[in-house]
Amino acid sequence: MDRNSREYAESMGHEKKNLMRVIRDKCTDCCCGSYKEIDACASVACALWPYRNGDNPFRAPLSEKQMENARQRGEVMRAARENLQDADSDE
Ligand code: SF4
Repeated sequence: MDRNSREYAESMGHEKKNLMRVIRDKCTDCCCGSYKEIDACASVACALWPYRNGDNPFRAPLSEKQMENARQRGEVMRAARENLQDADSDE
């Protein structure tokens, strides 16, 4: 089996993950589960260091249109959550 294939990775117990989550998980492992230690990590030469808090500081800032779309999605999600809470409280 190709050692770089998905099947091989899955056979080794891995699953598909967002790469920022992979980095965060590695940092969590490196710091024995302490988020404070991840934040305080002084190993700035580590390739993962800029991404250790689960964010990409090199990502281009969102455009006004993207910000507006995100705001609208947030409003839709908030309304859906409120509807669910209302439905739960009616039961
Ligand atoms: S950035 Fe720091 S916490 Fe994350 S893997 Fe590297 S040395 Fe460990």
